[in-house]
Amino acid sequence: ATPTALLVGTGRGAQLGILIKGPEVLESTRRIDTIVLDKTGTVTTGKMALVDVHVADGVGQEEALRLAGALENASEHPIAQAIARGAEERVGSLPAVDDFTNIEGLGVQGVVDGRAVLVGRTALLEEWSQHLPPALAEAKAAAERQGKTAVAVGWDGRARAVLVVADTVKSTSAEAIGQLRGLGLTPVLLTGDNEAVAKAVAAEVGIEQVIAEVLPKDKVDVVKRLQGEGKVVAMVGDGINDAAALAQADLGLAMGTGTDVAIEASDLTLVRGDLRVAADAIRLARRTLGTIK
Ligand code: ADP
Ligand code: MG
Repeated sequence: ATPTALLVGTGRGAQLGILIKGPEVLESTRRIDTIVLDKTGTVTTGKMALVDVHVADGVGQEEALRLAGALENASEHPIAQAIARGAEERVGSLPAVDDFTNIEGLGVQGVVDGRAVLVGRTALLEEWSQHLPPALAEAKAAAERQGKTAVAVGWDGRARAVLVVADTVKSTSAEAIGQLRGLGLTPVLLTGDNEAVAKAVAAEVGIEQVIAEVLPKDKVDVVKRLQGEGKVVAMVGDGINDAAALAQADLGLAMGTGTDVAIEASDLTLVRGDLRVAADAIRLARRTLGTIK
């Protein structure tokens, strides 16, 4: 590789908001045929808002919001932040939490007002034998059919509320996916979120392949599995739970709006949180390679 060509490529990259780790990165851009996209924070804004509160019979909305909001206030997860913000808007300042634990990819637990509270996926509550009553299960299913995220809340040993949080697809994502296809890449949506939400988002942006309900630690295995099938894989993520997968990918692209660990694990950093820049980056890298060869 001639240093001049690389310099041109990377300089132009910097202009577009793309940081390239090293020259070896360019080579892999030619062979990639699959692009795995993390859903939350990458395809979507990751900025969710609390849109609905459903409670079991005899439970007050205010109580549910106070307990769940207090617990989520201690978490940095975008879903948690939306719930804490939404709760605070509706009920005012939130109580403190004791014994807070984050259960990665599932939810959170802790003690609020002397009560053991769980907030997260129904799978997490079910581990504690807290099953949603039928009306709440139906509210959850209805929200998910609309592509929203339903979060279960349990305390005093029972599942007692469902909070509905909605994320929005970035305005640039559908166009970006069209461009990535134009570069010969098959897009795959990867998420820890449930299948219904994942499919609704995928349909909105034009992705056919969806791999949902993947725990953070298993995202790297999805990339390995695709590689095992002979795919050469690029992965775009924001690093909340996907740094290992970014590192495993043949080409890792970190959203600059994501975490430092993602940026460290990746070959390319997209400084703006715009997925179209992923297509720009691959196009630019291939072109730069063309001028070197
Ligand atoms: P993604 O793969 O979309 O980035 P995560 O792996 O971080 O999502 O989380 C997977 C799922 O676990 C979320 O969609 C949510 O249902 C649940 N979850 C994780 N953390 C929390 C939390 N703090 N509060 C509520 N739900 C959570
Ligand atoms: Mg994520």
